[in-house]
Amino acid sequence: MLVATGLTKSYGDVQALRGADLDVTSGQIVALLGKNGAGKTTMISIIAGLLKADSGTVMLDGFDAQRDLDRASKLIGIAPQLTGIYGVLTVRENLEFFANLAGVPRSQRVAEAVSVAERLGLTELLDRGAGKLSGGEQRRLHTGCALVHQPKLLMLDEPTVGADVATRAQLIDFVRESAEAGSAVIYTTHYLNEVEALDADIVIIDDGQVLARGTRDELVEQHRMQGVEFAMVEDLPPEVVERLGATTTDASTYRIADDIPVGELVGKLGPLSDQLLSVETIRPDLESVFLAVTGDRLTGAEEGST
Ligand code: ATP
Repeated sequence: MLVATGLTKSYGDVQALRGADLDVTSGQIVALLGKNGAGKTTMISIIAGLLKADSGTVMLDGFDAQRDLDRASKLIGIAPQLTGIYGVLTVRENLEFFANLAGVPRSQRVAEAVSVAERLGLTELLDRGAGKLSGGEQRRLHTGCALVHQPKLLMLDEPTVGADVATRAQLIDFVRESAEAGSAVIYTTHYLNEVEALDADIVIIDDGQVLARGTRDELVEQHRMQGVEFAMVEDLPPEVVERLGATTTDASTYRIADDIPVGELVGKLGPLSDQLLSVETIRPDLESVFLAVTGDRLTGAEEGST
């Protein structure tokens, strides 16, 4: 469905993409993972034709999407990070408006709007002004507007930010259903538990380049970090972190890539070992894969986020 090759993009001095490739087939969900500023939004904006690449190609169903934006826009649905719904329009009017923009014939718009609202749990709210929806309801509507024309390629940029547990679960189910119905899906998120729930193929991007791709199990097998994680009462001085060869994962929490015994860690910490709160062996999970691949500290705001 999508084959993007060698994408590069600079904003002035900032090289946001440095030759990134991405392909997705129909029915496949690809989760795009990367730290803040890795280049995820830039990549999907280029694929969606919202931004022009400096170089590289975007082939959609065999045609050059960058040369035929009209044709591409009919195949693509994108929900950017910031919600783009119209507060003065009702839920129904928003859905019909975006269906119209995507070229859905008038005769089908009403039915499509009702169908999407039903799948996203918005039926009762169809005639309410979108500005009077809760944050989670607005998120659902925003996602609904991206796919009211049944796109063959659906791109969702952090769709669950600010959504509660129920809305998240609903959006995840919805994404899975869309893939099962044949859409190719690109899903960016910082929540690793969502990636697991989607059973997505994972692409890790860092500094504008794709560093790894595979299923969760493949990546865990290839890249899992052996070692220990330990927490201190207070932050360690930077020179000690460096001497230990540790990476910082959270406030006063560190990882060492060697599976060293506790006694050895205590010895290496010297007098600072008085401040040692806990030591754990690192589990072979997606978070340790992400750390091993990007080789840097986590930047997410909650557990299970990148
Ligand atoms: P996040 O997880 O924070 O959404 P991201 O992976 O989506 O990040 P991008 O938004 O693609 O990252 O940004 C990639 C790089 O390009 C960053 O260094 C960012 O600061 C920079 N950048 C993005 N948009 C612009 C812009 N309009 N002007 C200048 N620099 C930009």
